[in-house]
Amino acid sequence: MGEDLFRLTAHEAARLLARREVSSLELTRAVLERAQQADARLNAFVTLTRELALEQARQADERLARGDDVTPLTGVPAAIKDVICTQGVRTTCGSRMLENFIPPYDATVIVRLKRAGLVMVGKTNMDEFAMGSSGENSYFGPTRNPWDESRVPGGSSSGSAAAVAADACLYALGSDTGGSIRQPAALCGIVGLKPTYGRVSRYGLVAFASSLDQIGPMTKDVTDAALVLQVIAGHDPNDSTSAPVEVPDYAAALVPDVKGLRIGVPREYMGEGVEEGVRQAVTAAIQRLAELGARVDWEASLPSTPYALACYYIIAPSEASANLARYDGVKYGYSYTEGASMWENMERTRQFGFGAEVKRRIMLGTYALSAGYYDAYYLKAQRVRTLIRREFEAAFQRYDVLVTPVSPTPAFRLGEKIEDPLQMYLSDVFTIPVNIAGLPAISVPCGFSQGLPVGLQVIGRPFDEATVLRVAYAYEQASDWHRRRPPP
Ligand code: GLN
Repeated sequence: MGEDLFRLTAHEAARLLARREVSSLELTRAVLERAQQADARLNAFVTLTRELALEQARQADERLARGDDVTPLTGVPAAIKDVICTQGVRTTCGSRMLENFIPPYDATVIVRLKRAGLVMVGKTNMDEFAMGSSGENSYFGPTRNPWDESRVPGGSSSGSAAAVAADACLYALGSDTGGSIRQPAALCGIVGLKPTYGRVSRYGLVAFASSLDQIGPMTKDVTDAALVLQVIAGHDPNDSTSAPVEVPDYAAALVPDVKGLRIGVPREYMGEGVEEGVRQAVTAAIQRLAELGARVDWEASLPSTPYALACYYIIAPSEASANLARYDGVKYGYSYTEGASMWENMERTRQFGFGAEVKRRIMLGTYALSAGYYDAYYLKAQRVRTLIRREFEAAFQRYDVLVTPVSPTPAFRLGEKIEDPLQMYLSDVFTIPVNIAGLPAISVPCGFSQGLPVGLQVIGRPFDEATVLRVAYAYEQASDWHRRRPPP
């Protein structure tokens, strides 16, 4: 089986590692080789960390040999989105601004994964500062979709999604501010989970929009998503927005049983703009859940949905404009020093260090927050945010989960939307409301349209990732979409 070790899921690998039928070093070598080949085609990685991975694999093997303190992720090769700080390993955020930035500390999720026995094969490509839905906004060039290299993998966690789909790692971390885990997961035919806001520490996650950002797992199946969430979830005193909420046993949530569960299908998510193949795949998936015994209401409604995108494109850029003020050429990364004054240096640093989309967001946000416009835009958007959140709260009185498409279309072509920001922004109409309300949601493979993967979104109550996982798991066990792999 040697060569095909990279095809394993994390939980399959864990079993072989625990039985010592395979070593982490063998597994890691196989994955590194695969990652290198895949990267040549897909540009999924900004940095491959070969030596580090081999060293971590050796350590994991010692730990497995001792047999003490072994977790399901001990010695399992992973890829990390390049927006998450890794001590001693450059963390670029897909930006020229941080091209040579080497963090002096690990993000909390990395500390936790290391404690569990992390083997990191590399840092993955992404839209610059996580702004985008296609991976095309990276300073390091676009990532390609392993299902069709003329198409985008989705974004902003473009490299993590492509790497998991291409078996260039066994699992990955992404970050999701408006859909950046779920949308690329859907477009690449893998599983992606955005946890409840506050479930996973943001300490060491380079900030885009602090009230929306969450880190989450991107995996080959639902079981792996539960395993990874188990390790990264939990309160962290280093992040004041991380919630002091108990973390349940997610593996225990993996029962293929949805009998009597109440599922709402908000009609605003199934209407205009949803491509026919996506609609068919998602409808069939929901019918499957009904056959499994769930009580499906096809007429649920979240009437404020049409305002979510506009609300997001005020709030997220506003927060971004504040968060990105720190890149002034003095404290971090790229620095222009040829100017006649400090002010010129600062201006040129930002002019040359940031790409077009990042500058667009900074301008949008600065405008929305400026005196005279604050009430009309930012304050109004915050009110709409409250409305959206309340609508979800009301819906969760009646339903245990809501189920929708993840993306209105399957993967689009490279270059297709890059000149038209509004079309690009519309890729996230169904994922953005979930971030606005701070809810947990998963993308799980549910079929194909035009030969390209389609994702089903399951949205849950705050801190009820367990039910989200259960529904996704029940569906997964009743289908075999997650076993399909792109051409080698
Ligand atoms: N595509 C959305 C944006 O560009 C969401 C990005 C994200 O979730 N990080 O803002």
